[in-house]
Amino acid sequence: MNYSDTDEQIKGFKSAINRCKRIVGFTGAGISTESDIPDYRSKGGIWDKFKPVYFEEFLSDEKKRFLYWQRKQELWESIRNAIPNKGHMFFKGLYDERKLIGLVTQNIDGLHEKSGLPKDIMVNLHGTNLEVICLTCGFILPSEEVLDDLDLEQGVPLCQKCGGLLKPNTISFGQSLREEDLDKARTLSLSCDLMIVVGSTLVVQPAASFPLIAKKNGALLVIISLSETPLDNDADYVFHQKMGDFLNRI
Ligand SMILES: [Zn+2]
Repeated sequence: MNYSDTDEQIKGFKSAINRCKRIVGFTGAGISTESDIPDYRSKGGIWDKFKPVYFEEFLSDEKKRFLYWQRKQELWESIRNAIPNKGHMFFKGLYDERKLIGLVTQNIDGLHEKSGLPKDIMVNLHGTNLEVICLTCGFILPSEEVLDDLDLEQGVPLCQKCGGLLKPNTISFGQSLREEDLDKARTLSLSCDLMIVVGSTLVVQPAASFPLIAKKNGALLVIISLSETPLDNDADYVFHQKMGDFLNRI
């Protein structure tokens, strides 16, 4: 890439940030790999090693349910201890300047919440590992309360209120995204004057449709991602860099 072009682009990006007042962030796994959260779907990722447990199997198969909780338990310490990085703090900074009106993420690590973004401006398209939900009554509790002292020899955890099955509040394989989340993401995409995509390959649908909705509605579109995306040609500014390196430059 021609460096003077990049400098020109960075100037344009900075001026867009200064000018725009209704910014929406859209983030994927790439923003969190710099916090040592593995990219689950990439090569060498968790799903390369383990066959995923599908939602149907979780409901109907006791052994699969046990296996699912066993894996969550193994990952829990790294989920619990992960801390937001510069990329997450960048969006928190925009929020503090009252410019960020929403953040849509494909990640389930809860790092945007940990950075201090309020829950009501967040859309966790794939749910969050920081919560556990009862599949019968919908009761939600913090994951610490279930996972910190989980003893699977006593069986998988059950809801204290109704005895129903508990499950981390993430969207499993074979489970559809929540209609209310998709609606909220769509509304944000139609309300923003700038959408900043970080660390998403923009290939998983319908999630990846939101940046295009924003662009078609007249918003500026910025993509910061190590790899190319199908929307690179639609974007106003594209930076093929890690978010940390990009932020060091600006
Ligand atoms: Zn319940």
